Amino acid sequence: MFNKILIANRGEIALRILRACRELGIKTVAVHSTADRDLKHVRLADETVCIGPPAATSSYLNMAAIISAAEVTQADAIHPGYGFLSENADFAESVERSGFVFIGPRSETIRLMGGKTTAKAEMISAGVPCVPGSDGILPDDEHECLAIAEKVGYPVLIKAAFGGGGRGMHVVRKPADLIGSIKIARQEALQAFKDGSVFLEKYLEVPRHIEIQVLADEHGNAVFLGERDCSMQRRNQKVIEEATAPGISPEQRAEIGKLCTDACKRIGYRGAGTMEFLYEGGRFYFIEMNTRIQVEHPVTEMITGVDLIVQQIRVAAGEPLPFKQEDIKITGHAIECRINAEDPFKFTPSPGIVAKWHTPGGPGVRMDSHVYAGYRVPPNYDSMIGKLIVHGPTRESAIARMRTALDEMIVEGIVTNIPLQQMILNDPTFCAGTHHIHYLASMLDKAAGGTGDAH
Ligand code: ADP
Repeated sequence: MFNKILIANRGEIALRILRACRELGIKTVAVHSTADRDLKHVRLADETVCIGPPAATSSYLNMAAIISAAEVTQADAIHPGYGFLSENADFAESVERSGFVFIGPRSETIRLMGGKTTAKAEMISAGVPCVPGSDGILPDDEHECLAIAEKVGYPVLIKAAFGGGGRGMHVVRKPADLIGSIKIARQEALQAFKDGSVFLEKYLEVPRHIEIQVLADEHGNAVFLGERDCSMQRRNQKVIEEATAPGISPEQRAEIGKLCTDACKRIGYRGAGTMEFLYEGGRFYFIEMNTRIQVEHPVTEMITGVDLIVQQIRVAAGEPLPFKQEDIKITGHAIECRINAEDPFKFTPSPGIVAKWHTPGGPGVRMDSHVYAGYRVPPNYDSMIGKLIVHGPTRESAIARMRTALDEMIVEGIVTNIPLQQMILNDPTFCAGTHHIHYLASMLDKAAGGTGDAH
């Protein structure tokens, strides 16, 4: 097992990783920007290294600074968390080349699955169902593009091959708009992702977002830990996640889970990963794989009792998984609400000093957050300041528990999205579990006096 792990992240996930390291008796190094000296995990870590100014490009994305910090502190491994460098194959490769263990898959795997078209091609060969679309990236020839779109059938969605964060996607409803949209998408992709390759797929009108959590070791073992439903989204950003997904039968779960673990074995996957699917008309369609831990991992931990961060670390240290598929048992239902420092309906960020911070408790309630009273939320990073997670025997009981927990929570000094979360938890469609990925947009539109016909 490792002696010392460097945590290359900030906020709640850095604290979550630090807690797992402590339980395993592993020393920790916290790297941080000058804006983050007061982060909770920086205070708790065995060693700290300031790696740069507030701007993430100069600190949390500064590969050289992070690797030198690992050298100076003699860490054995680097945990990248989520976001920042977690899915950067070049970073994983530099970490490996510098003689450290990257807590995640091999850099080649990240590269393969990081390209959406290469990932899709790999999944198609593994027999995983994908959204119908172009065979790889779109050619330059306009007639060929029109023919591809015609064959797939309108509406189609143009996506950046190396895109992320829901950016640079364009829905095209008729042939006359196709070429113009492809041009715009290429330009956007080039600017945002330094690569203008785009592809297209069938645009699904009202799908749900359902994803499968996998864990694999270096010894050829792979298991899946059920699914999560992340359909409550705003502008492709998840707002609430839950496990299990409403209405998915144990047979469907077993079937899609097996396809995912078979695919993991095929590509020699190592560590924790998520295969994201759209689900429409009773069928799953693979869209992409995240080769890292995800924000919403706690809901899976609550229903399976598996500590995903601990398992990530153990697998990275070369240990075999301590369980087989038949040992994974799903109990009850879990829901996570992302708590953001932002206006609940206008979504403007609200950084500043948290004057009061009182978190809820009681059976089945978990709060993953780095915030404490007196902490100043810096304006430089993502607005998420915590995750409130509840677990109950049924979905109904989990909803009731989440309502109670949200009502108990007190945050003063900054504005949070708690009122939005309370509104969703009381929404009949959410409570029935019949929402899809565009539902929140229409709910917000109605709440603002619109028709609800938002997308
Ligand atoms: P990113 O990596 O930018 O997040 P994804 O491929 O994961 O891109 O897609 C982000 C979101 O966009 C999905 O969660 C879903 O809401 C929507 N989306 C993606 N592909 C499709 C599609 N073919 N049809 C409809 N919506 C889609």
